[in-house]
Order: sequence, then C-alpha cells, then structure tokens
Amino acid sequence: MIKLINVNMNFRGKEILKDISLTIEQGEIMVIIGPSGSGKSTLLRLIIGLLQPTAGEVWVNGREISHMNEDELNKIRLEMGMVFQYSALFDSMSVGENVAFGLRQHTAMPEEEIARTVRRKLRMVGLRGQENAMPNELSGGMKKRVSLARAIAINPHIVLYDEPTAGLDPIMSNTIDRLIVSTRRMIDATSVVVTHDMASAFSIADRIAMIYGGGIVEIGTPAMIKQSENPIVAKFIRGATG
Ligand code: ADP
Ligand code: MG
Repeated sequence: MIKLINVNMNFRGKEILKDISLTIEQGEIMVIIGPSGSGKSTLLRLIIGLLQPTAGEVWVNGREISHMNEDELNKIRLEMGMVFQYSALFDSMSVGENVAFGLRQHTAMPEEEIARTVRRKLRMVGLRGQENAMPNELSGGMKKRVSLARAIAINPHIVLYDEPTAGLDPIMSNTIDRLIVSTRRMIDATSVVVTHDMASAFSIADRIAMIYGGGIVEIGTPAMIKQSENPIVAKFIRGATG
C-alpha cells in the first residue's frame, strides 16, 4: 500500500532522513515514534506528496509518487486523508463546512448527499449534530475529531495522523486512539500515526517503527519493541512513558 525505497531527504544540505526503506501493508496501523526533530512529520509529508525526496522512491497504492506533477499528485491525495498536528481547521467555516470542504473541492457530489456524508462522519467521531458549531467554540479534543471527520470525508484508502493526541488530556487521548482503531475498521484504511505518546503507540499499533538519527533503528510489533535490546529504543521508551 505504501512503500518507501532508499529514501533520502535533505533540507539545505542537511540530511534529515537517510536511506529509509519501509513497507506499510493494506489495513495496517503503522506507528512512527522518535525524538522531536527526527523527521517524523517529514516522513508523512513525503507519503502524502507534499515533499519530494532528495533521493529514492515513494510508492502509494502501486504508483510511484516521488516524481509526479501536481495534477497527478492531487488525484493521489484524494485517496489520502491527513489529520494535522494542530488540527488546521478553517476558523471562519462551521464544523460542517470544514468536513464538507474536500467533497466540495474535489467531487461533484450533490449538496444533499454532502450533508448526509457530513452527518455520518460527525456521528462516527462522536460529534453528532455539531454541524453548525464554529471551531473556536470547540475544545482541543473536539477540534481533533472534526479534523478526523474531515480527513475521512472522502473515504480515503490511507489516513495519516501527525501527533493526534498531542496536547490532549489522557481521557481525550484515549478517545482519539479508539477512533483511530475504529476508523481503520470502518473504512478499511491503512493508517500511519506519528506520535511521541508511547501509551498510545502500544495500544493502537500493529507495528511500530522508531526513527533516530535519520534512520529506522527498529521496527516490529509492540511486543517486539517493548523487548527491544537496542539501547536507543529501550531508553526512548522508558523516557517517553515516564
Ligand atoms: P519531527 O516531526 O520528528 O519532530 P520534522 O520532520 O518536523 O521532525 O523535522 C525534522 C528536521 O527537519 C528538523 O530539524 C526540522 O527543522 C527540519 N525541517 C523540517 N522541514 C523543513 C523545511 N521545510 N525546511 C528546512 N528544514 C526543515
Ligand atoms: Mg513533527
């Protein structure tokens, strides 16, 4: 579903990602962990085609996206939804308009069907009847859920999450974790979740990959990661879980 082959990413001559190779299977929840500044968000932006790698290939759904033009990329992006770190809602639009945005931009869906879809997606994230609320009336956790409803409005095959529980209290973090898992089931999506919340990583991941010093230093099931003998991984897990 998603395949990175020998990917390098440099910013102004500085090597951020070095020789990353990674395959994410259809329907899998892959969690990416690693210290701040290790290139996790960069990895997501490479997958969604917002960045082109300095070297290497990025494949999504059987197509290489690393050398596509904007038109082709826009089509591929219709198969992906992204929940950004700071929710990134349009503050001047209602909740309903935020969720409908992609449908109005990229499909010819009639308005009644858009309204139905918006209602259904808001119900999925536990925000039934919040269509007319404005983003600034919402808590951080609610904004995050609107952002998720917007990301899945177009029924993407892939959902990318950048630090979805950052800044949320433990109860709301848990709600978001459960939503990530139920979303995967409901729309059969492949999910890539960047987080530094280890409790969250262990509870939702099929596999966890740790990025450190530009490379993937460990990858495996939560049980494998917990027992990792790699001192970098062991130290990171201890630190991140307190
Ligand atoms: P993480 O999400 O793991 O915290 P990022 O992927 O955001 O890390 O960033 C990794 C490194 O790349 C950081 O040192 C950051 O400053 C740098 N970086 C990210 N995006 C850019 C950019 N567009 N231009 C220059 N440097 C960048
Ligand atoms: Mg980041």
